Amino acid sequence: MENDVLIQANNLQRFYGAHCAVNKVSFEVKRGEVLGFLGPNGAGKSTTMQMLTGNLAPSSGQIIINGIDILEQPKAAKLGLGFLPEQPPLYRELTVDEYLHYCARLNRIASKQLSRAVTQSKERCGLTEVSTRLIGNLSKGYQQRVGIAQAIIHSPDVVILDEPTVGLDPIQIREIRQLIRELGKEHSVILSTHILPEVQATCDRVQIINKGKLVLSDSIDGLTRRMESSSLLLGLHNPPPVEVIQTIAGIETVEQLENGQIRIQHSPNENPAEQLATRAVNQGWGLYALMPEHRSLEDVFVDITCTETADSETESGEAA
Ligand code: ATP
Repeated sequence: MENDVLIQANNLQRFYGAHCAVNKVSFEVKRGEVLGFLGPNGAGKSTTMQMLTGNLAPSSGQIIINGIDILEQPKAAKLGLGFLPEQPPLYRELTVDEYLHYCARLNRIASKQLSRAVTQSKERCGLTEVSTRLIGNLSKGYQQRVGIAQAIIHSPDVVILDEPTVGLDPIQIREIRQLIRELGKEHSVILSTHILPEVQATCDRVQIINKGKLVLSDSIDGLTRRMESSSLLLGLHNPPPVEVIQTIAGIETVEQLENGQIRIQHSPNENPAEQLATRAVNQGWGLYALMPEHRSLEDVFVDITCTETADSETESGEAA
């Protein structure tokens, strides 16, 4: 059952008064997938997460968790869900053991299985050695682990994590990301973040929401392809006139840069690198550099969210 869909959101919409915070959003997540949910501030991430976890009613649309409609059967659907909100719901005055036993009972784990569930979730989150410590005395990273442990204590099919690494130091961030990847092997995980490298480090797929609308849904491989732009940087000691370079098939524009190099934009289907190298060698252009120009995830993100912003502003402008 590798391809079973554990989360299905159909046409989700949420209004706050007249403001549409989430606008007809649809997606699915399969078992064994970690989905990164990205978006600028106010894009609608938390609103979507809260609807998925049954904490906020959609204005319209449908959410199915492992085959169960969360609006029709909220209790049954929530049994298959674990949620780490942005502010982990911790009781600082309890020990880790006391708190996790309490969470296990809240999740209706039978008394006979309570101890086993607590032990397992502690092991998975690396909490065994702090079992008897007060939560309030733990570091932020360990508190976050306790937050994740409560989310997985009942072995839910779906784990939803809202900004799980905010406020952690780089070592803690690595550990939590490793844990998320582990969780992703057995569960479906949705992770909201605005830390772009986190998505590349942790997720299989990425979704970008902007002004309430989904503007990108792609695999990490697809995203990587988007980051490979259609441009080359060329360094020549004896460059020919620009018109000569421009005759090579596939080249769209040739731009002289201030550092003496040349930026070449080419059609996505025809890479002129090999031709350029051959011509440069045969005609003595003194080739010293030829490399593809890479864009960062941040460039892609800004491109997508800014284009959409411009489009939606035009749309509203036209409507007004
Ligand atoms: P952030 O990254 O800043 O947490 P977000 O993507 O999670 O942002 P949401 O918190 O879902 O965004 O908010 C989406 C939009 O809905 C924003 O414009 C926000 O101001 C608005 N909004 C959120 N909650 C409410 C509320 N309870 N009442 C009115 N408007 C709200």
